[in-house]
Amino acid sequence: MSYLQSYTRDELATLLMPVCRKAALKRRKHATEEVREAYAQKKSHYHAKQIFSLHYQQHIHSWDEMTDLSKAMREWLKQHVQIFSLDTLTEQRSEDGTMKFLWQLPDKKTVESVIIPATGNDAHITEEGNQFRGTKNEAALKPDNWDRMTICISSQVGCAMACKFCLTGVQGFDRQLEVHEIVTQVAQLARTYPLSNIVFMGMGEPLHNPDAVIKACKIFRDDAGLSFSRRRVTVSTSGLVPQIDRLREETDVTLAISLSGTHDPQREEIMPVNKKWPLNELLDACRRFQGNGKVWITFEYVMLKDVNDTLEDAARLADILEGIRAKVNLIPFNPFPGSIYDRSDPEQVQRFKNALIEKGVFTSVRISRGQDIFAACGQLRSAFGTARGTEKHAPSLQSPPQQKNH
Ligand code: SAH
Ligand code: SF4
Repeated sequence: MSYLQSYTRDELATLLMPVCRKAALKRRKHATEEVREAYAQKKSHYHAKQIFSLHYQQHIHSWDEMTDLSKAMREWLKQHVQIFSLDTLTEQRSEDGTMKFLWQLPDKKTVESVIIPATGNDAHITEEGNQFRGTKNEAALKPDNWDRMTICISSQVGCAMACKFCLTGVQGFDRQLEVHEIVTQVAQLARTYPLSNIVFMGMGEPLHNPDAVIKACKIFRDDAGLSFSRRRVTVSTSGLVPQIDRLREETDVTLAISLSGTHDPQREEIMPVNKKWPLNELLDACRRFQGNGKVWITFEYVMLKDVNDTLEDAARLADILEGIRAKVNLIPFNPFPGSIYDRSDPEQVQRFKNALIEKGVFTSVRISRGQDIFAACGQLRSAFGTARGTEKHAPSLQSPPQQKNH
């Protein structure tokens, strides 16, 4: 038995071929085999599109209720394909409207997704107020005011990249999520919430799970599937160079790079992945991704007090991004139990931002949302059955991940 949500539309069409060939034999009895095969092909694509739209757009999640399909087709599907669903263990809502969902996977491991509603005039949540003092965002609490609703999804249980400022990284790697486990985080919540953007910024390094992530992106982008535009699907990576190239070749989604360092020794210290893929190689991959310069790449930069937040860093950052259509997103560090860094002073974040802007770099400061429910960047965790705890597991320098597909 396989899951519907594991298939791209083309794959589903291929899967449906046997049943469509049967129909062809019945309906095109006297035709040549070639004609029958062409008929079956056409039919399988037609039905794959129909099933995608019934499931992802009309949110029907039982074969019996897909009454647009023939009874024979439904029976065949019931025997061969299951519609996957995720169990919600907990659902929390922050005072600023952010929601966090803890999913239980079939093997009892858990991952989180976060929904971040935003209003057009989020400007009134001043950086000062929201970011550093946690003021309530009244507007975000009123659904009528939401005009953007971003879902932040996970791609792995844990993460092997061991970035020292990230709780998921400190926790270590457990397993890859499968395509249906990634897609269903979105598909299931899309039934209730008018999601507008998808970002792979939850748990895990998406490009360390490229097969599943690329397929999921295809389903997110598919007109008959979840139908998100290319700018509204963002893959965020700590910088796995060959997989950045692969992402560019196989999809057209938007790229974000977690940079957080401006020279190799510094970045290596906080993000061990830099030992394998140093800055110059990473930035070259960004230039290739950008191609003729029409796409923007976001560079996320976690601001760590006295580690990477000096004005020399700002100047270096502007230099190394020269020639890339870059948007820099400064993220004040979100602490977690046992974390070894401090958040940069708000004044320093402003100075850093202004220094970048003066050099002509588009820069914004991310407003940390959902901190009261531990839903902010880098605060997600999972409960998996290994001995590695989180709270009691102090961050340590782990050796860089040894994965064959890096
Ligand atoms: N693994 C991917 C995506 C998930 S992390 C990546 O690293 O890009 C999503 C974002 O959260 C990254 O930009 C990361 O730099 C940031 N982040 C991680 N830990 C953080 C923390 N403690 N405070 C603030 N941002 C953090
Ligand atoms: Fe993994 Fe991203 Fe966290 Fe680094 S920041 S440990 S890559 S989830």
